[in-house]
Amino acid sequence: MYKTLSLISIFIILSCQTKQMPIKPNMMKPKINKSDAEWEKILTPQQFHILRRKGTDLPGTGEYTYNFEDGIYKCAACGAPLFKSDNKYESHCGWPSFDDVIEGAIIMQPDNSHNMTRTEIICANCGGHLGHVFNDGPRETTGKRYCVNSTSLNLAKKDADKNK
Ligand SMILES: [Zn+2]
Repeated sequence: MYKTLSLISIFIILSCQTKQMPIKPNMMKPKINKSDAEWEKILTPQQFHILRRKGTDLPGTGEYTYNFEDGIYKCAACGAPLFKSDNKYESHCGWPSFDDVIEGAIIMQPDNSHNMTRTEIICANCGGHLGHVFNDGPRETTGKRYCVNSTSLNLAKKDADKNK
């Protein structure tokens, strides 16, 4: 009896996690630690607002939302590779969306701002704000949706890499 009950509670906990709970943070620390003054010299005002002040591109406005060219999406602040174009998909949410990340490229941390419980994603190299990750991605792959600001990304196109 006890065993059955605990199995049921495990099932309930698991189903809550996939439907409502935010994705578990991985709590790593960024490698680069620059001051705001240093970042302001490197970044455009828009990049600084999004990457260092956790801003958000207006939905549907970003450079990469409807871009499906082949390549690697790199961090706009430090150039670290973050996402592959193979993992980009049309989520109709208004921001570039990916169902997976390059391994170890992203830190996930809790974000309780705006009266919401979400999981923020930041660049594991420089700590720049990228967006959030949600559990409503494509069921046939990872089930995750990495929702990213175009301003935080730079696409290194595949053809451009060939000419190097
Ligand atoms: Zn970075």
